[in-house]
Amino acid sequence: MSQGQSDGKPRRFPLPLDKVASAPSARLKPAAASSREVLRPQAHLHQIEQERRRQSIPQGVGLDSMQIRLRMVERLRSDGITHPGVLEAFARTPRHLFVDTALVNQAYEDTSLPIGLGQTISKPSVVGTMLQLLCSRPGLTMPHVQPGRPLGLCLEVGTGCGYQAALLSLLARQVISIERLRDLHIKARGNLDQIRQHVPAWQDVRLVYGDGMVGHPPQAPYDTIIAAAGGAALPQAWLDQLAPGGRLIAPMEDERGQGQVLTVVDRLPDGSLQHTRAGAVLFVPLKSGIT
Ligand code: SAH
Repeated sequence: MSQGQSDGKPRRFPLPLDKVASAPSARLKPAAASSREVLRPQAHLHQIEQERRRQSIPQGVGLDSMQIRLRMVERLRSDGITHPGVLEAFARTPRHLFVDTALVNQAYEDTSLPIGLGQTISKPSVVGTMLQLLCSRPGLTMPHVQPGRPLGLCLEVGTGCGYQAALLSLLARQVISIERLRDLHIKARGNLDQIRQHVPAWQDVRLVYGDGMVGHPPQAPYDTIIAAAGGAALPQAWLDQLAPGGRLIAPMEDERGQGQVLTVVDRLPDGSLQHTRAGAVLFVPLKSGIT
């Protein structure tokens, strides 16, 4: 069938320019507008992406960022994390400054995120559960515990990107944090230097590059010990470096080989140790040596 013959005469294609120009504009314009919409969907998607970014990327540490953090805090509260100091630490610590720019959109979601070298930053709800357990340790009534600093002298094994160390620093008198991977140790130092400008009254963290399996004898004993990596058993050094009234929390492989469990160890005032379990978890492996 030939194209568009209303007067019975054969049409020549292409049409002469004057025929195109003389076509009624009312018919041409909507056709042109709709073809733009159909043929360039990427323009539309681009606008959606821009809008999504405008709404969800935390901008600096201004109001946007604080509002996003407060939404995360509300989620943590509904997940059962109610300790006021822990919630305040989450509200004050800018998690988006610890993750790669490509992941910044997810910084305030309850998700673990890669931090490089095969390691991950844990989900806020898991970190919150661990901090809350540390903040209710038996030795809290001891005279040397400063008000508002329930973690006392705290040892962290597995600095990673430094996010959890920053949270700990708002709850402890002092934090010593050990990392076995040199590149992450250096990255954490940069991240913590950056947040020092944003978080008032932030206690300094002592970062150590070394094997955390041996703890950190020079400043032992510790009121609290927290590990962000799990092994088959708790290293004896950690137990030896736990002060009376102190609490240790670490993921550990279940003895029946059924994944990891969060293990809590309390050193009671008489020096004995009491072990309890606080649910199934999934952490990166605890490894010995440094790289
Ligand atoms: N708390 C961290 C999470 C780090 S992931 C954060 O907020 O980012 C666990 C970390 O433990 C990894 O960086 C890993 O390299 C480290 N790690 C594993 N075994 C270790 C060991 N024996 N000594 C010190 N760090 C160790």
